[in-house]
Amino acid sequence: MTKVRLNKKIADAGITSRRKAEQLILDGKVKVNGEVVRELATFIGNKDNVEVNGIQIENEEPIYILYHKPTGEISSVEDDKDRKTVVDNFDHLGVRIYPVGRLDYDTSGILLLSNDGDFTNYMTHPRYEVPKTYRVRVDGHLTPRQIAELETGVMLEDGKTAPAEVEIIRDVENKDMIIQLSIHEGRNRQVRRMIEYFGKEVKKLKRIGFDFLTIEGVPTGEYRFLTPHEVKKLI
Ligand code: URA
Repeated sequence: MTKVRLNKKIADAGITSRRKAEQLILDGKVKVNGEVVRELATFIGNKDNVEVNGIQIENEEPIYILYHKPTGEISSVEDDKDRKTVVDNFDHLGVRIYPVGRLDYDTSGILLLSNDGDFTNYMTHPRYEVPKTYRVRVDGHLTPRQIAELETGVMLEDGKTAPAEVEIIRDVENKDMIIQLSIHEGRNRQVRRMIEYFGKEVKKLKRIGFDFLTIEGVPTGEYRFLTPHEVKKLI
């Protein structure tokens, strides 16, 4: 859940309309985290405590999901072409959740989802640079020199990429090369563009690691909840 205006939070809890909620705020009937708030432009996150006339509004339990996204799903809440989105898989939970960052339609692997807006904002902020590890099947072969270039950084339209770690998983004649690439940045289509820089295409892309989290034990299309310890470690 991203932050919402205080009057919306009150209205969404079924207490009254948004307009009447504004009046309650102006009348000093609303407390946020124990303090009376009269400012209408107050924004409320999942962990804030809101009381109206001394009665606390129940907060949604925050949830944190590690989903093994298959290819063929959009990493957003809605799609203008009506394709399946990752959140469609979680209707049964009965809570609105949001993807934490994105994976391309054709990329599979770890995608986190949450209803905690503070968590999502924190994790998707550019300064939150944790290693993300991708298994990349390259159409063709990269030379040792090109691999070294990938490691030091390649010049894309939006600037030179930061140093990356590359591990060669398979390098056999007449077969596609498979590498494992760890990057800290999260630019749009970054891995695909890094490979396209050498005139080669990515045939298959899977995110197998996100910080200390791995995809192991979570089959394609399935998910698990993060433990409180894992959430703490991430933020
Ligand atoms: N890099 C890409 O090119 N695509 C993804 O989905 C993730 C990283």
